[in-house]
Amino acid sequence: MSTEYEKREKQENIRDVSASEKVSGKNRERAVRIRERAEKIRSRIVEDRRVLHQDPEIGMDLPRTSAYICKCLDEMGISWKMCGGPLPRKMTEDYMAAGFPRMERATGVTAVIGSGSPCILLRADMDALPVKEENELSFRSCSGTGHMCGHDSHAAMLLGAARILKDMEGELKGSVKLMFQPGEETGAGARVMVENGVLENPKVDAALGLHVQTVEETGTAGYAAGVNSASLDSFILKIHGKGGHSSQPQLCVDPLMIMNQVYQAVNLLVTRETDPAAMVALTCGVAKGGTAVNIIPEEAELHIGVRTLDVAAANHLNRRIPELIDHYVKAWGGTYDLTVFHTPCTYTDEKLCRELVPYIGMITGEEKVHQIPPMTGTEDFGYVTENVPGMFVFIGAGEPGNAPLHSPHMVLDEDVLPVGAAVYAMASVSWLEEHGTGKEDA
Ligand SMILES: [Zn+2]
Ligand SMILES: [Zn+2]
Repeated sequence: MSTEYEKREKQENIRDVSASEKVSGKNRERAVRIRERAEKIRSRIVEDRRVLHQDPEIGMDLPRTSAYICKCLDEMGISWKMCGGPLPRKMTEDYMAAGFPRMERATGVTAVIGSGSPCILLRADMDALPVKEENELSFRSCSGTGHMCGHDSHAAMLLGAARILKDMEGELKGSVKLMFQPGEETGAGARVMVENGVLENPKVDAALGLHVQTVEETGTAGYAAGVNSASLDSFILKIHGKGGHSSQPQLCVDPLMIMNQVYQAVNLLVTRETDPAAMVALTCGVAKGGTAVNIIPEEAELHIGVRTLDVAAANHLNRRIPELIDHYVKAWGGTYDLTVFHTPCTYTDEKLCRELVPYIGMITGEEKVHQIPPMTGTEDFGYVTENVPGMFVFIGAGEPGNAPLHSPHMVLDEDVLPVGAAVYAMASVSWLEEHGTGKEDA
């Protein structure tokens, strides 16, 4: 395992390459052109973002959001395909057990600009959160859901990039694939699109995902080479006991007592069986059951969430948590149902990172591109980076001290919108230039 110092030194090397010869006159000229074009269409990107902001939809099934994306692509003369389709019944039921609304299909949208190989994928998620917006914006959401993670801006920035790229289609030395993804907040929207072939036809060779960050200065770009977001494993446990009168515990099986033992056991597991150097955060965000002091209930429920940047720790805990649950529930005569959700770490490929950092810097200004520590939050872009080299970048959209993502008070600085659109466009055109021949696949 490398030390923090070694890790930093490794990252410095990536930084050094960003100042390399790639900053050629041709690339500079292209960056200026893309920035100017992004500024010209700024009001349209803002409008797209506000339309989406006002009508947030959550989960995998985003009928109005995806219809709006398709309508915009139609206007641009870009043909698109839905990607997702009906969800397996078990998946629908598992998500309902975890508290999501009924989701029977996923409404991802993909489109290709340019043609042939190589192919770079640009990903924007577009789902909202079950959070009621508490802002006084003219375009605020009035429903109980809100775009408090900024995915409305991601979709609008990718639409902006599509407008820029469509104009430059003749210059593309390959294909740019657009991925408008639902269900990021479920942790599996990207998985559904990958399973439905988003990485094929044309085959994707590299992928770039952006995310706004309201507590960073607008226009900055932050990235971490290697693992850059935590995996998340969620265990939704329903313990079935035998209810009865609290004066006769000997005739009952108390699910609350079993839940308490499982709660303690999984927390101890982290302290006793994982490497202290591995970042592991285990939280039981839901523990519930019972209605009155004189009743032993029939059921209790415990939701256990494990986040880590360490794959070995995740694998170990994924095996041991179900073992402990089984042991404790059976020891006290109960039964249980367990539903497990997994979202992998997102991984930024170091070679791709070296290639794209200079292009991003040509849009934001090189001094505004920073390496940041991996985030302890989770991003389902990991399902893409498990399969192809990918890079995930945070784009500043505010300033330190602002309300963070997921807050009902989150407001993002719309100046980020042309920057994000230009970063998507510049990175993809230039990467294709570096890798492509412009010839169609044989
Ligand atoms: Zn989020
Ligand atoms: Zn998000």
